[in-house]
Amino acid sequence: MALNKLVAGNWKMHGVAADLEQVEAIAAASRSLAAVEVALCLPLTLIERAVRAVPGLAIGAQDVHFAEKGAHTGNASAAMLRDAGASLTIVGHSERRQAHRESDAEVKAKAEAALAAGLGVILCVGESLAVREAGGAVDTVDAQLQASLPAGIGDPMDFSVAYEPIWAIGTGKAASPDDIGEMHAAVRQRLVTAYGDAGNRVRILYGGSVKASNSVEIFALANVDGALVGGASLSVADFLPIVEAAAAAAAAG
Ligand code: PEP
Repeated sequence: MALNKLVAGNWKMHGVAADLEQVEAIAAASRSLAAVEVALCLPLTLIERAVRAVPGLAIGAQDVHFAEKGAHTGNASAAMLRDAGASLTIVGHSERRQAHRESDAEVKAKAEAALAAGLGVILCVGESLAVREAGGAVDTVDAQLQASLPAGIGDPMDFSVAYEPIWAIGTGKAASPDDIGEMHAAVRQRLVTAYGDAGNRVRILYGGSVKASNSVEIFALANVDGALVGGASLSVADFLPIVEAAAAAAAAG
């Protein structure tokens, strides 16, 4: 089944008020494109201002705490993100799994807390280079999924899985079409096992050095329902061709 594509940008720790002009330009340029949804996951400091500047664009966070409230210095709850106007959040990005030692159980709790509060979720999984070279990529990602998928997902269009091989993030070296195809088929199988037919309607995004030059090929692959884009999402000039490629792929069915 062809799903509308989702192209989400992850700005990481980039962006101040002056960069809202890129958010506005991305919103304006992508507004007329059919069959593709665009979201920007911004630093916390920009979420509310971006929502005010471009009410029609989905603005997200890059992480969420699993608790509703409490003594968690430096964190934000799902209700706080909703209050700021966010409509979705990333959970389990490899930079958080590595730098903040986030476990699969924690990622699952974050996804469940976000969905319960009405936030859409992009749940990230991916293998290291050592695991890929040892031939264990599919088993590793499947184990991550089994341990981090939320118990229930509600509307499948509010929940996405992003396959992001760690070695492809920010390196300029994307996974090959064969490797993406194999992994996304395995992710789909796990989603159907977990959620039944609704698993066929969960979008599976590829992330890792997506850019204009490789996006057409990636979006043409089976089970690639969009992309999570880091570096190339920071400017309309780099991001728009990726969004257009997704729209063209969606239109081609
Ligand atoms: C990411 O951080 O999620 C990502 C995919 O980054 P990049 O596109 O820069 O590789």
